Amino acid sequence: MKIAIASGKGGTGKTTLAVNLASFIQNILPKQNEEVVLIDLDVEEPNAGLFISGELIHKEEQFRLVPQWIEGKCTFCDKCQSLCQFNAIAQLPKTLLIYPELCHSCFACSELCPEQALPMVNRKIGILNHYNVHYDFASQSDFSFIESILQIGEPSAVPLIKKTKEYTRDAFHINCIKIFDCPPGTSCPVIEAVKDADFTILVTEPTPFGLHDLKLAVETMKKLDKRFGVVINRDGIGNEGVEEYCSNENIQILAKIPNDKKIAEQYSRGELIYKKSNEFRLQLEAIQNYINTVLSFCSPG
Ligand code: SF4
Ligand code: SF4
Repeated sequence: MKIAIASGKGGTGKTTLAVNLASFIQNILPKQNEEVVLIDLDVEEPNAGLFISGELIHKEEQFRLVPQWIEGKCTFCDKCQSLCQFNAIAQLPKTLLIYPELCHSCFACSELCPEQALPMVNRKIGILNHYNVHYDFASQSDFSFIESILQIGEPSAVPLIKKTKEYTRDAFHINCIKIFDCPPGTSCPVIEAVKDADFTILVTEPTPFGLHDLKLAVETMKKLDKRFGVVINRDGIGNEGVEEYCSNENIQILAKIPNDKKIAEQYSRGELIYKKSNEFRLQLEAIQNYINTVLSFCSPG
């Protein structure tokens, strides 16, 4: 089961919800013999790790393939420059320039170069860390936490998000529960993060700004034909616009997390909120129950 936690804009409490939900579900799972994996896919600015600590059990560099020019083999036929759809190759009278930042690793130039002068080579795009998180010593309920950090200067987060999901697919049992903490917004990294999720939780605030960005996120989900629901964070501020919109659009509101000073204080200390806030815990239970119901017919993966 794959649950994506996304939002139309940053700062809505998406990561707070992802971290708490992962720990909460793991705490109630041991009897069912399943495993929770929290995956921070906000690779440009991963911050779930600020709220959890654990034992680093695996670390690996991540790469993507880009062409490398072999000058001695090249006949300056211009084929590669003309076929690259991303303007990542420029042929000059006496040299060939490759812009790896623009390359989409499609292999076309490498495959079609008549002289085999463009072999594909690895380019580092980031680092992946895999932690075992010890949260509840009483129930022995550890969970896994994966974060990837994009290499500085790397222009696109999409390849690293893809690689991170591949890692989790290979490293964990098919029946595990994966919680994706997605990048904010509605651009390509978000689409890559949510595209194979079974269910997406859109976190928003009950304000005009929150509503504006929620509408964009909802449009994205509809275009992707994804199942989704909404969680309202900081309920009590702003106005009724988000609730009215969800009601009119027939969108399920899964939970409303109150705007509570104690929750904010726990957040600022990097603590798990549901451990001390009954209200927060009740909201997590509501989310978990809803997801269980919706996904009871879902195939694992
Ligand atoms: S396709 Fe190959 S031979 Fe032709 S210009 Fe490009 S690298 Fe050189
Ligand atoms: S691999 Fe594809 S995108 Fe990259 S330089 Fe070659 S043709 Fe362009």
